[in-house]
Amino acid sequence: PPYRAADDRYGSMEYRRSGRSGVLLPTVSLGLWHNFGDTHPLETQRAVLRRAFDAGITHFDLANNYGPPYGSAEANFGRHFAADFRPYRDELFIATKAGYDMWPGPYGEWGSRKYLLSSLDQSLTRMGLEYVDVFYHHRPDPDTPLEETMGALASAVRQGKALYAGLSNYSPERMAEAAAILRDLGTPLLINQHPYSMLERGIEGGLLERSDEAGAGVIAFSPLAQGLLTDRYLEGVPADSRMAVGHFLRREALTEQRLTMLRSLNTVAEKRGQTLAQLALTWLLRDRRVTSVLIGASSVAQLEQNLAAFGGADFTGEELAEIDRITVE
Ligand code: NDP
Repeated sequence: PPYRAADDRYGSMEYRRSGRSGVLLPTVSLGLWHNFGDTHPLETQRAVLRRAFDAGITHFDLANNYGPPYGSAEANFGRHFAADFRPYRDELFIATKAGYDMWPGPYGEWGSRKYLLSSLDQSLTRMGLEYVDVFYHHRPDPDTPLEETMGALASAVRQGKALYAGLSNYSPERMAEAAAILRDLGTPLLINQHPYSMLERGIEGGLLERSDEAGAGVIAFSPLAQGLLTDRYLEGVPADSRMAVGHFLRREALTEQRLTMLRSLNTVAEKRGQTLAQLALTWLLRDRRVTSVLIGASSVAQLEQNLAAFGGADFTGEELAEIDRITVE
């Protein structure tokens, strides 16, 4: 039967304003970096996307090269969009990006206007969309003038191919410079996308603060440290896990010291009546400058566990201090 979104889909999700923009994003967003390439069954993909939207997850995050192979996550999303979500286009906030290697030759990566605008056209074709809601520059390019890259984002907005501009993986200083250029071009920076989790605190060193000053939101990617901050690896490495099958989460990441740390965090979670994944997500969202946590999920069960994270008790100072103590490596 054709998909019909749940009537109560806006009943439980919390939405936060992205910086000083007009846009509200769900506190939990879904990323399609893994689990949506040609290597994953379309039925699982469909089930995860439907469950997400039914739970109020309006924001789906993609990039040109998500897969594998590159482009396939967008193409598969396009299939699901055409089959299930087209009637809900105006309820969805869809992101894509360009910046990393996408096609061969000098125009297929980094930050030129040439690359960004052709990549966006390709992404729109693959997804079967007329526009994306936010178009990101995926990583800073040390060799292209910021004016050119920001000019390309602003052009995408002016051409109606993107509604907002975003930045990912920029340093606080470069982000602030870029945000000033975007503001002058009349397309203020909507959001910064960065890694942030109990294990990856880099953005506490300035990016959170500078985003706030720039009026941009922050969306935290890999909030579960790619699965480390869940029960996935507490008793070994499951054969179907990202660590066993993927290339981005290496076995070296799971040292004895790390495992001890994860077990201690798990104990903190248990004391709070949460799973480790739930602890990891609520810990991030206690900071109001974090607009959304951008999770991945390889099954509906994982998604549901993560969505059940909310509504618990606030963190005590003691709990926060204990988490800091445990995670200092
Ligand atoms: P997470 O840290 O949320 O890791 C997701 C993985 O953790 C899942 O695939 C699954 O692994 C495991 N997992 C999730 N929930 C549970 C659970 N409840 N119990 C057990 N295991 C669980 O995020 P990702 O690293 O996937 O990144 C999320 C999104 O962030 C990406 O899809 C992408 O959109 C964005 N991103 C952006 C980057 C950028 O440069 N801008 C870089 C990286 C990500 P398993 O597969 O083993 O089941």
